[in-house]
Amino acid sequence: MKRLTVLAALAAAACVLGARPAAAALTVVTTTSDLAAIVTEVGGDKVTVTSLAKGYQDPHFVEAKPSFVLLLNKAQLLVVVGKELEIGWLPPLVTQSRNPRIQPGAEGYLDASQGARILDLPSGAVTRAMGDVHPEGNPHYWLDPENGGRIARSIAAKLAQLDAPNAATYKQREEDFERRLTAAVQRWKAQLAPYKGLEVITYHRSWTNFADAFGLNVIGFVEPKPGIPPTPQHTLDVINAMKAEKVKLILVEPYFDLKTPNSIASNTGGKVLVMTPSVGGVPAAGDYFKLFDYDVALLLTAIKETAAK
Ligand SMILES: [Zn+2]
Repeated sequence: MKRLTVLAALAAAACVLGARPAAAALTVVTTTSDLAAIVTEVGGDKVTVTSLAKGYQDPHFVEAKPSFVLLLNKAQLLVVVGKELEIGWLPPLVTQSRNPRIQPGAEGYLDASQGARILDLPSGAVTRAMGDVHPEGNPHYWLDPENGGRIARSIAAKLAQLDAPNAATYKQREEDFERRLTAAVQRWKAQLAPYKGLEVITYHRSWTNFADAFGLNVIGFVEPKPGIPPTPQHTLDVINAMKAEKVKLILVEPYFDLKTPNSIASNTGGKVLVMTPSVGGVPAAGDYFKLFDYDVALLLTAIKETAAK
Protein backbone atom coordinates (compact mmCIF):
# COMPACT_ATOMS: atom_id res chain seq x y z
CA MET A 1 0.00 0.00 0.00
CA LYS A 2 2.79 2.35 0.96
CA ARG A 3 4.43 1.70 -2.41
CA LEU A 4 1.22 2.55 -4.26
CA THR A 5 1.00 5.82 -2.38
CA VAL A 6 4.56 6.68 -3.41
CA LEU A 7 3.79 5.80 -7.03
CA ALA A 8 0.65 7.92 -6.95
CA ALA A 9 2.63 10.80 -5.47
CA LEU A 10 5.27 10.43 -8.20
CA ALA A 11 2.59 10.40 -10.85
CA ALA A 12 1.02 13.52 -9.37
CA ALA A 13 4.45 15.19 -9.31
CA ALA A 14 4.96 14.25 -12.96
CA CYS A 15 1.64 15.91 -13.83
CA VAL A 16 2.62 19.06 -11.96
CA LEU A 17 5.89 19.13 -13.90
CA GLY A 18 3.90 18.90 -17.12
CA ALA A 19 5.16 15.50 -18.28
CA ARG A 20 3.32 14.37 -21.40
CA PRO A 21 1.35 11.13 -21.01
CA ALA A 22 2.96 9.77 -24.20
CA ALA A 23 6.39 10.06 -22.60
CA ALA A 24 5.18 7.99 -19.67
CA ALA A 25 3.93 5.07 -21.79
CA LEU A 26 5.03 1.72 -20.40
CA THR A 27 7.59 -0.04 -22.61
CA VAL A 28 6.47 -3.62 -23.24
CA VAL A 29 8.26 -6.33 -25.23
CA THR A 30 6.51 -9.60 -26.09
CA THR A 31 8.00 -12.72 -27.64
CA THR A 32 5.14 -13.20 -30.11
CA SER A 33 2.82 -11.03 -32.19
CA ASP A 34 -0.26 -12.59 -30.56
CA LEU A 35 0.81 -11.42 -27.12
CA ALA A 36 1.64 -8.00 -28.58
CA ALA A 37 -1.85 -7.79 -30.08
CA ILE A 38 -3.45 -8.55 -26.70
CA VAL A 39 -1.16 -6.09 -24.88
CA THR A 40 -2.31 -3.43 -27.37
CA GLU A 41 -5.97 -4.29 -26.72
CA VAL A 42 -5.48 -3.93 -22.95
CA GLY A 43 -2.87 -1.16 -22.81
CA GLY A 44 -4.02 1.17 -25.62
CA ASP A 45 -1.96 4.36 -25.70
CA LYS A 46 -0.66 3.77 -22.17
CA VAL A 47 1.85 1.26 -23.54
CA THR A 48 4.28 0.91 -26.43
CA VAL A 49 4.66 -2.72 -27.44
CA THR A 50 7.12 -4.55 -29.67
CA SER A 51 7.08 -8.25 -30.56
CA LEU A 52 10.40 -10.01 -31.06
CA ALA A 53 9.06 -12.75 -33.36
CA LYS A 54 7.12 -11.92 -36.51
CA GLY A 55 3.80 -13.65 -37.05
CA TYR A 56 5.12 -15.61 -40.04
CA GLN A 57 8.03 -17.11 -38.08
CA ASP A 58 8.07 -20.44 -36.25
CA PRO A 59 7.92 -19.26 -32.61
CA HIS A 60 9.96 -22.29 -31.49
CA PHE A 61 12.89 -21.27 -33.67
CA VAL A 62 13.34 -17.51 -33.95
CA GLU A 63 16.64 -16.13 -35.21
CA ALA A 64 18.07 -13.93 -32.46
CA LYS A 65 19.08 -10.46 -33.65
CA PRO A 66 21.31 -7.94 -31.80
CA SER A 67 18.38 -5.51 -31.89
CA PHE A 68 16.44 -7.87 -29.62
CA VAL A 69 18.97 -7.33 -26.82
CA LEU A 70 18.56 -3.55 -27.12
CA LEU A 71 14.77 -3.84 -27.02
CA LEU A 72 14.96 -6.10 -23.96
CA ASN A 73 17.40 -3.74 -22.28
CA LYS A 74 14.85 -0.91 -22.42
CA ALA A 75 11.78 -3.00 -21.58
CA GLN A 76 9.76 -2.40 -18.42
CA LEU A 77 7.74 -5.53 -19.05
CA LEU A 78 8.51 -8.73 -20.96
CA VAL A 79 5.56 -11.02 -21.75
CA VAL A 80 6.37 -14.58 -22.82
CA VAL A 81 4.20 -17.49 -24.03
CA GLY A 82 6.08 -19.92 -21.76
CA LYS A 83 5.64 -23.72 -21.66
CA GLU A 84 9.12 -23.83 -23.23
CA LEU A 85 7.94 -22.29 -26.52
CA GLU A 86 10.83 -19.81 -26.51
CA ILE A 87 13.43 -21.97 -24.74
CA GLY A 88 15.52 -22.37 -27.90
CA TRP A 89 16.21 -18.66 -28.36
CA LEU A 90 15.00 -16.33 -25.60
CA PRO A 91 16.93 -17.14 -22.36
CA PRO A 92 20.41 -15.96 -23.54
CA LEU A 93 18.87 -12.73 -24.88
CA VAL A 94 17.20 -11.96 -21.54
CA THR A 95 20.52 -12.57 -19.76
CA GLN A 96 22.42 -10.42 -22.26
CA SER A 97 19.92 -7.57 -21.87
CA ARG A 98 21.40 -6.88 -18.39
CA ASN A 99 17.95 -5.62 -17.46
CA PRO A 100 17.12 -6.78 -13.92
CA ARG A 101 13.46 -5.71 -14.31
CA ILE A 102 12.61 -8.44 -16.85
CA GLN A 103 14.55 -11.46 -15.58
CA PRO A 104 12.38 -14.55 -14.88
CA GLY A 105 10.76 -14.08 -11.48
CA ALA A 106 11.20 -10.29 -11.49
CA GLU A 107 8.22 -7.93 -11.42
CA GLY A 108 8.55 -7.05 -15.11
CA TYR A 109 8.44 -10.66 -16.33
CA LEU A 110 5.06 -12.17 -17.18
CA ASP A 111 4.57 -15.78 -18.27
CA ALA A 112 1.18 -15.64 -20.03
CA SER A 113 0.65 -19.39 -19.69
CA GLN A 114 -0.08 -18.84 -15.99
CA GLY A 115 -3.85 -18.80 -15.85
CA ALA A 116 -4.33 -20.15 -19.38
CA ARG A 117 -5.93 -23.52 -20.13
CA ILE A 118 -3.11 -25.81 -21.27
CA LEU A 119 -3.76 -29.01 -23.24
CA ASP A 120 -1.53 -32.02 -24.11
CA LEU A 121 -0.21 -32.02 -20.54
CA PRO A 122 2.36 -34.77 -20.02
CA SER A 123 1.07 -37.66 -17.93
CA GLY A 124 4.46 -38.86 -16.69
CA ALA A 125 7.76 -37.18 -16.01
CA VAL A 126 8.55 -34.13 -18.18
CA THR A 127 11.12 -35.03 -20.81
CA ARG A 128 12.19 -33.82 -24.22
CA ALA A 129 12.21 -37.40 -25.46
CA MET A 130 13.19 -37.69 -29.15
CA GLY A 131 13.42 -33.91 -29.34
CA ASP A 132 9.74 -33.28 -28.54
CA VAL A 133 9.44 -29.49 -28.23
CA HIS A 134 6.23 -29.63 -26.17
CA PRO A 135 7.46 -31.28 -22.96
CA GLU A 136 5.35 -29.10 -20.62
CA GLY A 137 2.07 -29.27 -22.52
CA ASN A 138 0.93 -27.50 -25.67
CA PRO A 139 2.40 -23.98 -25.89
CA HIS A 140 0.13 -22.88 -28.78
CA TYR A 141 -2.67 -22.18 -26.32
CA TRP A 142 -3.44 -18.65 -27.65
CA LEU A 143 -5.29 -20.37 -30.53
CA ASP A 144 -8.23 -20.97 -28.20
CA PRO A 145 -9.85 -17.51 -28.14
CA GLU A 146 -11.09 -18.15 -24.61
CA ASN A 147 -7.44 -18.37 -23.61
CA GLY A 148 -7.09 -14.95 -25.28
CA GLY A 149 -9.40 -13.61 -22.56
CA ARG A 150 -7.38 -15.34 -19.85
CA ILE A 151 -4.13 -13.91 -21.26
CA ALA A 152 -5.71 -10.45 -21.34
CA ARG A 153 -6.66 -10.73 -17.65
CA SER A 154 -3.07 -11.65 -16.69
CA ILE A 155 -1.74 -8.76 -18.76
CA ALA A 156 -4.23 -6.27 -17.26
CA ALA A 157 -3.26 -7.32 -13.72
CA LYS A 158 0.44 -6.98 -14.51
CA LEU A 159 0.06 -3.59 -16.21
CA ALA A 160 -1.94 -2.35 -13.22
CA GLN A 161 0.80 -3.56 -10.90
CA LEU A 162 3.54 -1.79 -12.86
CA ASP A 163 1.52 1.35 -13.64
CA ALA A 164 -0.97 1.81 -10.79
CA PRO A 165 -2.23 5.28 -11.87
CA ASN A 166 -3.69 3.72 -15.04
CA ALA A 167 -5.07 0.58 -13.38
CA ALA A 168 -8.70 1.60 -14.01
CA THR A 169 -7.99 2.14 -17.71
CA TYR A 170 -6.42 -1.32 -18.05
CA LYS A 171 -9.36 -2.93 -16.26
CA GLN A 172 -11.92 -1.14 -18.44
CA ARG A 173 -10.06 -1.91 -21.68
CA GLU A 174 -9.63 -5.58 -20.67
CA GLU A 175 -13.34 -5.93 -19.94
CA ASP A 176 -14.20 -4.31 -23.25
CA PHE A 177 -11.82 -6.70 -25.05
CA GLU A 178 -13.48 -9.70 -23.42
CA ARG A 179 -16.95 -8.42 -24.31
CA ARG A 180 -16.00 -8.13 -27.98
CA LEU A 181 -14.19 -11.47 -27.86
CA THR A 182 -17.19 -13.30 -26.37
CA ALA A 183 -19.39 -12.03 -29.21
CA ALA A 184 -16.79 -13.01 -31.82
CA VAL A 185 -16.33 -16.50 -30.35
CA GLN A 186 -20.08 -17.08 -30.62
CA ARG A 187 -19.93 -16.05 -34.28
CA TRP A 188 -16.92 -18.29 -35.11
CA LYS A 189 -18.41 -21.26 -33.27
CA ALA A 190 -21.74 -20.84 -35.09
CA GLN A 191 -19.96 -20.72 -38.45
CA LEU A 192 -18.11 -23.98 -37.76
CA ALA A 193 -20.90 -25.75 -35.85
CA PRO A 194 -22.25 -27.62 -38.93
CA TYR A 195 -18.84 -29.33 -39.30
CA LYS A 196 -18.38 -30.45 -35.68
CA GLY A 197 -16.11 -33.48 -35.48
CA LEU A 198 -14.50 -32.78 -38.87
CA GLU A 199 -11.30 -34.84 -39.08
CA VAL A 200 -8.11 -33.10 -40.19
CA ILE A 201 -4.35 -33.62 -40.30
CA THR A 202 -2.05 -30.83 -39.13
CA TYR A 203 1.68 -30.42 -39.79
CA HIS A 204 2.82 -29.35 -36.31
CA ARG A 205 0.81 -29.79 -33.13
CA SER A 206 -0.15 -26.07 -33.26
CA TRP A 207 -3.89 -26.46 -33.54
CA THR A 208 -4.78 -28.52 -30.47
CA ASN A 209 -6.46 -25.59 -28.70
CA PHE A 210 -8.06 -24.29 -31.90
CA ALA A 211 -9.48 -27.75 -32.66
CA ASP A 212 -10.74 -28.07 -29.10
CA ALA A 213 -12.44 -24.67 -29.24
CA PHE A 214 -14.12 -25.19 -32.61
CA GLY A 215 -14.90 -28.92 -32.62
CA LEU A 216 -12.31 -30.21 -35.11
CA ASN A 217 -10.81 -33.66 -34.64
CA VAL A 218 -7.07 -33.79 -35.38
CA ILE A 219 -6.35 -37.43 -36.26
CA GLY A 220 -2.66 -37.12 -37.10
CA PHE A 221 0.37 -34.93 -37.70
CA VAL A 222 2.84 -34.61 -40.58
CA GLU A 223 5.60 -34.40 -37.95
CA PRO A 224 6.19 -37.71 -36.12
CA LYS A 225 6.65 -35.65 -32.91
CA PRO A 226 6.46 -31.88 -32.35
CA GLY A 227 9.68 -30.40 -33.75
CA ILE A 228 10.77 -33.60 -35.57
CA PRO A 229 10.75 -33.46 -39.42
CA PRO A 230 8.64 -35.94 -41.38
CA THR A 231 10.03 -39.42 -42.09
CA PRO A 232 9.01 -41.67 -45.05
CA GLN A 233 7.44 -44.33 -42.78
CA HIS A 234 5.47 -41.79 -40.74
CA THR A 235 4.28 -40.07 -43.95
CA LEU A 236 3.01 -43.42 -45.23
CA ASP A 237 1.18 -43.98 -41.93
CA VAL A 238 -0.48 -40.55 -42.29
CA ILE A 239 -1.54 -41.32 -45.88
CA ASN A 240 -3.05 -44.65 -44.81
CA ALA A 241 -4.90 -43.08 -41.88
CA MET A 242 -6.29 -40.33 -44.14
CA LYS A 243 -7.47 -42.91 -46.70
CA ALA A 244 -9.06 -45.11 -44.01
CA GLU A 245 -10.90 -42.17 -42.45
CA LYS A 246 -11.53 -40.28 -45.73
CA VAL A 247 -9.82 -37.20 -44.33
CA LYS A 248 -9.34 -34.40 -46.85
CA LEU A 249 -7.71 -31.44 -45.08
CA ILE A 250 -4.05 -30.98 -44.16
CA LEU A 251 -3.50 -27.78 -42.17
CA VAL A 252 0.03 -26.39 -42.52
CA GLU A 253 1.68 -23.47 -40.72
CA PRO A 254 3.24 -20.90 -43.11
CA TYR A 255 6.85 -21.68 -42.10
CA PHE A 256 6.95 -25.36 -43.10
CA ASP A 257 8.10 -26.85 -46.40
CA LEU A 258 5.08 -27.88 -48.47
CA LYS A 259 6.81 -30.83 -50.15
CA THR A 260 5.58 -33.56 -47.76
CA PRO A 261 2.07 -32.07 -47.29
CA ASN A 262 1.67 -31.79 -51.09
CA SER A 263 2.80 -35.38 -51.53
CA ILE A 264 0.29 -36.52 -48.89
CA ALA A 265 -2.44 -34.51 -50.60
CA SER A 266 -1.72 -35.98 -54.03
CA ASN A 267 -1.78 -39.51 -52.57
CA THR A 268 -5.08 -39.02 -50.78
CA GLY A 269 -7.03 -36.56 -52.93
CA GLY A 270 -6.70 -34.16 -50.03
CA LYS A 271 -6.13 -30.43 -49.86
CA VAL A 272 -3.27 -28.50 -48.24
CA LEU A 273 -4.47 -25.48 -46.33
CA VAL A 274 -1.89 -22.92 -45.14
CA MET A 275 -3.47 -21.41 -42.03
CA THR A 276 -1.71 -18.80 -39.93
CA PRO A 277 -1.28 -19.59 -36.24
CA SER A 278 -0.29 -16.01 -35.39
CA VAL A 279 -1.31 -12.38 -35.80
CA GLY A 280 0.61 -10.94 -38.76
CA GLY A 281 1.27 -14.37 -40.29
CA VAL A 282 -0.51 -12.87 -43.30
CA PRO A 283 -1.34 -9.17 -43.68
CA ALA A 284 -5.08 -9.86 -43.34
CA ALA A 285 -4.60 -11.35 -39.85
CA GLY A 286 -3.71 -7.94 -38.44
CA ASP A 287 -5.04 -8.31 -34.90
CA TYR A 288 -6.29 -11.03 -32.54
CA PHE A 289 -9.85 -10.92 -33.95
CA LYS A 290 -8.73 -10.85 -37.58
CA LEU A 291 -6.49 -13.88 -36.92
CA PHE A 292 -9.56 -16.03 -36.19
CA ASP A 293 -11.67 -14.30 -38.86
CA TYR A 294 -9.00 -15.22 -41.40
CA ASP A 295 -8.47 -18.83 -40.32
CA VAL A 296 -12.17 -19.61 -39.87
CA ALA A 297 -13.00 -18.18 -43.32
CA LEU A 298 -10.15 -20.15 -44.92
CA LEU A 299 -11.29 -23.34 -43.25
CA LEU A 300 -14.94 -22.86 -44.28
CA THR A 301 -13.96 -22.30 -47.92
CA ALA A 302 -11.75 -25.41 -47.93
CA ILE A 303 -14.46 -27.55 -46.27
CA LYS A 304 -16.93 -26.53 -48.97
CA GLU A 305 -14.40 -27.12 -51.77
CA THR A 306 -13.43 -30.62 -50.58
CA ALA A 307 -17.03 -31.61 -49.89
CA ALA A 308 -17.91 -30.61 -53.45
CA LYS A 309 -15.44 -33.15 -54.89
ZN1 LIG B 1 4.91 -26.24 -31.04
